[in-house]
Amino acid sequence: MSRAWIGLGSNLEQPRRQLEQAFEALAGLAESELLARSSLYRSAPMGPADQPDYLNAVALLQTRLEPLALLDQLQAIENDQGRRRERRWGPRTLDLDLLLYDDLVMDHPRLRLPHPGMAERDFVLLPLLEIAGDLEIPGQGKASRLLAKCQSRTAEKIA
Ligand code: ATP
Ligand code: CA
Ligand code: CA
Repeated sequence: MSRAWIGLGSNLEQPRRQLEQAFEALAGLAESELLARSSLYRSAPMGPADQPDYLNAVALLQTRLEPLALLDQLQAIENDQGRRRERRWGPRTLDLDLLLYDDLVMDHPRLRLPHPGMAERDFVLLPLLEIAGDLEIPGQGKASRLLAKCQSRTAEKIA
């Protein structure tokens, strides 16, 4: 069994409902178990500013799916929830990023691990720290130290 950390984000069509539905879909994935889920966080959009704020969260899965098979499943869940790919970093109903898969480091055209950018994003690191304790990001150091270095800090836990 492997451990996979997944970052969730939504800023369209009832983001809270989108994330709840995504957690349910993750809990129902074949050969996998949802071990933990963070609280929800609100954050300012990254990239284009003319879009709604985001809700973000992180999930921990235990899984027998290989990394690319897991990515296929994550993309299928995004598609089920109406994800459209338009502008880079544009608004979306659901984004599921595979943040970490055990301590694997890989650079495949479809899948880079650890997820590029996660180390600079407070809306990933805050929920990750909530459920992971002080996790080490392969090649980049402790999540807490990375969070302290984040240039932009907008994420806030919501009730
Ligand atoms: P970012 O990756 O900067 O957070 P994004 O989530 O908006 O931006 P997407 O349009 O969702 O980007 O994904 C673009 C491509 O990234 C996907 O088609 C996927 O193959 C690739 N990708 C590479 N590494 C990963 C990863 N670790 N998790 C999810 N997708 C990845
Ligand atoms: Ca993303
Ligand atoms: Ca993505």
